[in-house]
Amino acid sequence: MIGVDVAVVGGSFAGVSAAIMLARARRRVVIIDDGATRNRYARASHGFLGMDGAAPGAIHAKGLAEVLAYPTAQHLEGRVTAITGSAGAFVLEGLEEVRALRVILAFGQRDHLPDIPGLRECWGKTVVQCPYCHGYELADRTTGLLAWEAIPMHHSVHLQDWTDDLILLENGVEVTVEEAGKLARPGLRRQAGRVVRVHHSGGAIEAVELEGGATVEMRALYLVTWQEPASSLAQDLGCEVVETPMGRHLKVDDHQRTTVPGVFAAGDLARPYPSATQAASTGNRAGAACHQDLLGLLE
Ligand SMILES: Cc1cc2nc3c(=O)[nH]c(=O)nc-3n(C[C@H](O)[C@H](O)[C@H](O)COP(=O)(O)OP(=O)(O)OC[C@H]3O[C@@H](n4cnc5c(N)ncnc54)[C@H](O)[C@@H]3O)c2cc1C
Repeated sequence: MIGVDVAVVGGSFAGVSAAIMLARARRRVVIIDDGATRNRYARASHGFLGMDGAAPGAIHAKGLAEVLAYPTAQHLEGRVTAITGSAGAFVLEGLEEVRALRVILAFGQRDHLPDIPGLRECWGKTVVQCPYCHGYELADRTTGLLAWEAIPMHHSVHLQDWTDDLILLENGVEVTVEEAGKLARPGLRRQAGRVVRVHHSGGAIEAVELEGGATVEMRALYLVTWQEPASSLAQDLGCEVVETPMGRHLKVDDHQRTTVPGVFAAGDLARPYPSATQAASTGNRAGAACHQDLLGLLE
């Protein structure tokens, strides 16, 4: 059994940023992490200060080494399977039992992808969601934009700074008259028909196949995923969730407090729009707020 002031579940951008604040406040903090970060499919991570273009694993390893240089910080590899108790007396179960006064949840979100053969193999390489993360490297290619449940109108405009050869794959989703008007612009073609397969070579997309057998060539594909918390731990604790068109995330206040006393949340889990920098920023805030809560300074 390990006893700490704060247990942080998830040791990526958010979790490590939270833990370092607590370690610098000389509090005992443990990071428990099972190493499946959301961007593990990508070869490089972009836009993170001082580490633009570094491999996700290299950023995580550096961050973890920095926090573990503090004598009150610990790291446990493994998955937290349950959290019980309340503020001042939480118990986290997993490979090892951890008792903590406070808990910071930073275990990220899970992306749901459309079930199209070949698509998953390209995810994070040439099939992506965020143009700020990967658009520069994938620029000036014939690029698909996959409709899935809804027409991604935002991306249809957004992507014009990365390609002037964009194909909206309607994939069986109905386009309204208003949407059709907005989609009519140079550099954007509409392609009807359901996508049944992604053809690729080692994750490099080459074409999509439509129902009926026709293929459409492309060298990059964007889609908008549906996201939800990567674990049910927060819901099991009773934390409220917020529903958005992009999925579900945890409700937090300005101090990253969830609706359960003593439980904070940071990173993608607590924000609908994912980015490593934002995850680190909310982690930083959660760590400081959690420390102030331990001192009775938070209202
Ligand atoms: C393909 C792809 C590429 C991306 N590229 C970029 C990019 O270039 N630039 C950028 O800014 N953003 C990028 N992002 C977004 C970025 O990955 C996320 O915003 C960021 O990883 C969120 O950090 P986080 O700490 O909240 O969660 P995560 O990085 O997802 O980390 C959560 C951690 O918690 C652990 N965990 C989960 N459940 C448990 C449990 N029960 N017990 C213990 N540990 C647990 C996981 O294993 C993981 O290590 C990308 C996302 C994707 C999907």
